[in-house]
Amino acid sequence: MKIDLHSHTHFSDGQLSPQELITRAHTMQVDVLAITDHDTVDALPQALAFQALQKRPLHIVAGVELSTSWHNFDIHILGLQVDITDPVFASRLQQQGAEREIRAQEMSNKLSKVGIDEVYSQAKAIAGVGQITRAHFARVLVDRQVVSDFDKAFTKYLGKGKKAHVKPQWISIAQAIEWIHAAGGQAVLAHPGHYDMTAKWLRRLVAEFSEAGGDGMEVIHSHLSPERKKLLTDLALEHQLLGSSGSDFHYPNRWTELGKNLTLPEELKPIWHDWNLAVNMSA
Ligand code: AMP
Ligand code: MN
Ligand code: MN
Ligand code: MN
Repeated sequence: MKIDLHSHTHFSDGQLSPQELITRAHTMQVDVLAITDHDTVDALPQALAFQALQKRPLHIVAGVELSTSWHNFDIHILGLQVDITDPVFASRLQQQGAEREIRAQEMSNKLSKVGIDEVYSQAKAIAGVGQITRAHFARVLVDRQVVSDFDKAFTKYLGKGKKAHVKPQWISIAQAIEWIHAAGGQAVLAHPGHYDMTAKWLRRLVAEFSEAGGDGMEVIHSHLSPERKKLLTDLALEHQLLGSSGSDFHYPNRWTELGKNLTLPEELKPIWHDWNLAVNMSA
């Protein structure tokens, strides 16, 4: 069974619509797909309605990727199997969205100060129905040829400590876990191998996440060396975290693909071990 528990649509910084994402998941023969947009679950009603019309079965997991602040790091926590009809959860997500808007305006002001004007309105136009993210700002900077590629937008302007960086006021890790649990979901530490931190900080992060009641950790994600994979597996075992696995797919490109190379190490108990995977599979 192909299981991918981390993906994005144009409701945040992904570039495909929910319908296009699902069509791609079918092509890639994915059986279980979590849609985990940044701080929103708005893609899910469309995704579920579209899948209900399909011949090929696909179990869609209602998910979210919450932004949190921990020390000086942006840490992402996935909520899997959240109740998207929960009004309290919806208002909490709205609070994160409001924070995104404030930060976007401030980033745009900082860019104006270095002579790059009106980035907010252009980024907002690209974001459309979606939550505004730094990825939209990066696209504007690339389109205007202020930088030559997407990564340079972060290393020159949008990354921590750079010209247009604004320290985000996200919720804490403990709060994110609490929100996810209150919405009936499971909390998973996203892409621990991607954070720009030493192994010592990483150990501390996993320990604190587990102590705060976190349920699982992405042990398989893109761009992981075998050594890193081993470290993450050992940390998950040490802290009794369930294993999760996801592509973090944002748009078609040569490096990431839905459902590809996501097999969990056998020694880990999967986060989906007690899920009823027959639900919402239309045949
Ligand atoms: P935000 O959540 O608004 O801070 O935006 C961060 C998003 O930008 C991440 O989810 C990534 O999809 C994307 N991104 C791409 N390259 C980078 C990078 N070098 N550093 C941080 N984020 C990046
Ligand atoms: Mn993203
Ligand atoms: Mn992330
Ligand atoms: Mn993601």
